[in-house]
Amino acid sequence: MTGSSDFPVTGLRGRLTPNAPLGPRAWFRVGGPADWLFVPEDQDDLALFLREKPAAMPVTVLGACSNVIIRDGGIAGTVIRLARGFADITVQGNSLIVGAAALDITVAEHAAAAGLAGLEFLAGIPGSIGGAVRMNAGAYGSDINAVLEWADILTAEGDLHRLSHDELGFAYRHSELPEGSTVIRASLRGTPDNADAIRSRIADIRASREASQPVRARTGGSTFRNPEGHKAWQLIDEAGCRGLQIGDAQVSEKHCNFLLNLGQASSADLETLGETLREKVLAQSGVDLHWEIKRIGRKSEGEQTV
Ligand SMILES: Cc1cc2nc3c(=O)[nH]c(=O)nc-3n(C[C@H](O)[C@H](O)[C@H](O)COP(=O)(O)OP(=O)(O)OC[C@H]3O[C@@H](n4cnc5c(N)ncnc54)[C@H](O)[C@@H]3O)c2cc1C
Repeated sequence: MTGSSDFPVTGLRGRLTPNAPLGPRAWFRVGGPADWLFVPEDQDDLALFLREKPAAMPVTVLGACSNVIIRDGGIAGTVIRLARGFADITVQGNSLIVGAAALDITVAEHAAAAGLAGLEFLAGIPGSIGGAVRMNAGAYGSDINAVLEWADILTAEGDLHRLSHDELGFAYRHSELPEGSTVIRASLRGTPDNADAIRSRIADIRASREASQPVRARTGGSTFRNPEGHKAWQLIDEAGCRGLQIGDAQVSEKHCNFLLNLGQASSADLETLGETLREKVLAQSGVDLHWEIKRIGRKSEGEQTV
């Protein structure tokens, strides 16, 4: 193990880094450091950490950081990032057993190679399977709710549980994952189909993404949940906020529900822009927008995690 002797848990095999920058890992390219970043070697290593860590130490698990604003003051306690030891993908019958660190696009491609349809929607979502389960990620009329059979989690105390689909309580961009738990793998169901037909649908999804979303920008995906009966982007557009800018944070001209970091934005700029949108939409249409993006960490160093 690399890392510091100051860390309160011994015997870990993964990589431990104090004061680890998180901004470069985030899609928005913003955010302060983690007090500690732990990249566990494997499931047993993560379980050991969760069992032995001091009860008062906050723990935050991050995936591909494609749906988070990490605040400028960084994240207190330990941030867990799942990597190689959690990225296996295997085919079992008509299901794919996928590690939580596997990227959604990689899972879609494996499903295609195995001639299993139904997971194409993952090709347009730039996150990891852990984040997809947590967020019930979805696109093109499908979502994790429609394909997940079960998920293995480690609880906040380090115990392994297999949760059935129904125990995960999926709703629109929401799951009832137990507080403090980490998804480590999931089983996703496919339907046998021609591999070339699946690949062609994946290509269509990727092309349609490129056309409609700022997929190469520093962004965090959909900023707000679509309120019942409305599209968030349309409400933002009607409130006159397309292209609105605060510092280097801007509402995308291409897709109004996406915020962009034009280069030098801080997390505070992005969050202030988001709150400004909420105020303007409320004034214009009476609809209260709710954040889909998770805002995590301290606004400034020294502040408690919120
Ligand atoms: C260009 C772009 C397009 C996007 N399009 C879509 C879309 O079409 N549909 C859609 O649903 N989303 C979309 N998103 C948002 C995002 O990709 C998804 O929400 C994705 O599922 C987040 O996964 P992640 O690994 O990046 O999670 P992160 O952003 O790292 O984390 C998101 C949340 O999940 C939690 N989490 C992450 N990993 C785990 C784990 N292993 N166990 C427990 N909790 C975990 C984190 O604590 C956090 O609360 C888009 C984002 C971008 C940048």
